[in-house]
Amino acid sequence: MTGRPHSADVVWQRPRAGREDRTHAMGQLGGTVWLTGLPAAGKSTIAFGAEARLLSSRRAAYVLDGDNVRHGLCGDLGFDAQARRENVRRVAEVAALFADAGVVAIVALISPEAAGRDAARELHERAGLPFLEVFVDTPLDVCERRDPKGLYAKARQGLVKGFTGVDAPYERPPAPDVWLRTASETIEADVDAVLEALDRATAALPRA
Ligand code: ADP
Repeated sequence: MTGRPHSADVVWQRPRAGREDRTHAMGQLGGTVWLTGLPAAGKSTIAFGAEARLLSSRRAAYVLDGDNVRHGLCGDLGFDAQARRENVRRVAEVAALFADAGVVAIVALISPEAAGRDAARELHERAGLPFLEVFVDTPLDVCERRDPKGLYAKARQGLVKGFTGVDAPYERPPAPDVWLRTASETIEADVDAVLEALDRATAALPRA
């Protein structure tokens, strides 16, 4: 977590505790699971399912949900392309802090641009933290039929502008770590696939 500060007078303070201390205290190596996909693809449902499973096995986990962060951390941001980029950047930074602290951060965010998702991955890789890009691949027509918040209907009527999948683009991940096809899989199977991939990714990295 050593990005470029706004001023040269801001000096990085070296913490006394390191990865090994945090891993020991938390009993696990943190990491980030990043769920991307169209609105209503199932990102939040899978994220909260994975969080519940991790917590029930005494593993620290926390969902950073795209809708929820807009109530606080990103409450000042709108939905134009620049604001969305800033939204993704902030969530990536917060996820990396959670992961560094030894928590499994589970991000549920449309994150429509590959560049923003790639930047999130790089941030984690630079810090030696696991990062899994999970593509919640649900066809547009299925998302639109689900429409749990009624937003596709509003977007089709022109009442919501710049809605991903309707009048704003979504860049499909070309090589996700986990590829979920929710139209033909159960929520539990999707959660299983995420947790198995997380265990593999975490086991592959040093804990110190
Ligand atoms: P998003 O966070 O991507 O906008 P939500 O999780 O809020 O999407 O909504 C997805 C909807 O799809 C929920 O109502 C959920 O119950 C339903 N759904 C049906 N099958 C699945 C599945 N296999 N995985 C995830 N969600 C599913």
